[in-house]
Amino acid sequence: MHDAIVVGAGPAGSQAATSLAQRGYSVLVLEEHPQIGVPTNCSGLIGAEAFERFDLPRGSVIREFDSATFFSPKGNAATVGADRVMAYVVRRCEFDQSMAQRAVACGADYHLGVRCVGLEYEGDGVKLSVLKREPGGGEIPMSYRARAVVLATGVRYGLIQDLGIERPPRFLQAAQVEVEMEGLAGVEVYLGREVAPGSFAWAIPAGALARVGVCDGGQAIPYLRRFLRHPSIASRLRNGEVQIKSKAIPVSNVSRTFLDRILLVGDTAGQVKVTTGGGISYGVLCGDLAAATLDHAFRLGDLTERVLAEYERRWRHEIGVELRVGNFFRRLGGTLSDEQIDHLICAYHESDLPDLVKRRADFDRHRKFILALCRSNIFFHLVWGVFRRRSIG
Ligand SMILES: Cc1cc2nc3c(=O)[nH]c(=O)nc-3n(C[C@H](O)[C@H](O)[C@H](O)COP(=O)(O)OP(=O)(O)OC[C@H]3O[C@@H](n4cnc5c(N)ncnc54)[C@H](O)[C@@H]3O)c2cc1C
Repeated sequence: MHDAIVVGAGPAGSQAATSLAQRGYSVLVLEEHPQIGVPTNCSGLIGAEAFERFDLPRGSVIREFDSATFFSPKGNAATVGADRVMAYVVRRCEFDQSMAQRAVACGADYHLGVRCVGLEYEGDGVKLSVLKREPGGGEIPMSYRARAVVLATGVRYGLIQDLGIERPPRFLQAAQVEVEMEGLAGVEVYLGREVAPGSFAWAIPAGALARVGVCDGGQAIPYLRRFLRHPSIASRLRNGEVQIKSKAIPVSNVSRTFLDRILLVGDTAGQVKVTTGGGISYGVLCGDLAAATLDHAFRLGDLTERVLAEYERRWRHEIGVELRVGNFFRRLGGTLSDEQIDHLICAYHESDLPDLVKRRADFDRHRKFILALCRSNIFFHLVWGVFRRRSIG
């Protein structure tokens, strides 16, 4: 019987494991794949504040960024940035592995190639039914027991659905390729109906290769194929054939993130920045809050949902407003015409927003920027434009 079993060795699960092990609890992490971080499909951008707050391992960092350049449909550009490091780009597979190594150094155990297929309450704990991969192929059924369970299974929702919790209602699809690209100096973000309606595409330098991708409501792969033919991308590409990988990203939360003895963290809970679809920082934050809540519950000797409800209050206190404001902004973005996006980008450097970004921007918390944008003249013109288009329509 372990004190806690974490299901899923992504960043959210490994952070929960580290925080629990640091507090002296016996922790086991179950990961269905035989190798941590494989397969991976991620751009690997992580906010600098998360690195500092959680002392995240830096060995996988490829480079740092202090700005990103946004391109409008007409090709106008605005560079949004600060005079300090805003984010790091990491080798994602190595990042997940070093998060796990840190948890192991704190006393956590990892069992790899072990897929959890069911959970049931049994006495004073939870029984986890698993299938363990055998080296020669095949799987053996086994079970584990723990006083508490942290579910950090990413966008795999079977286990929580069996517990009566519905998967998040809204998802984006993100598709990405890793390619050789010339002349890509920093992060580039492309907007507009042709690129990804209501969403965005990106090109991120990441060492020898660039990560080029598109995020969309459901058509990310065709949009990415088209984006790769976009003149400012195609002219710099050096590869011929590229392998497109795609994956869902939740942009809404599950209805509840706690049950008796069980907490949900990371993508499983829908703890993702709605504006960009980035989930690593919030997953790490919520993994940490889950561990702190379990610590409190273990000390009280009460792991019922009455005590574990505190977890949901804590994470909503930290990021709830961010998620709501981000949601509003994403919906507003979806209503903008290409002309309005162009206007926004051209007007950016004439406004007081660059100064605000320099002073207060945070890669993982966009609320202040969004609220400042809403108070600016640029925003007034945009809303007026949307209103006029609707009245005319
Ligand atoms: C193309 C793309 C680009 C992205 N770029 C960024 C970015 O730049 N920055 C950012 O912050 N986010 C980005 N994201 C999102 C980010 O990848 C996720 O938000 C993040 O990985 C969530 O972490 P997690 O720990 O919750 O889940 P995951 O990292 O998905 O980890 C879940 C783990 O659980 C394991 N698992 C699942 N089910 C079981 C089971 N039943 N038993 C045992 N193990 C199980 C899985 O194998 C996996 O290892 C991107 C996503 C995509 C698709």
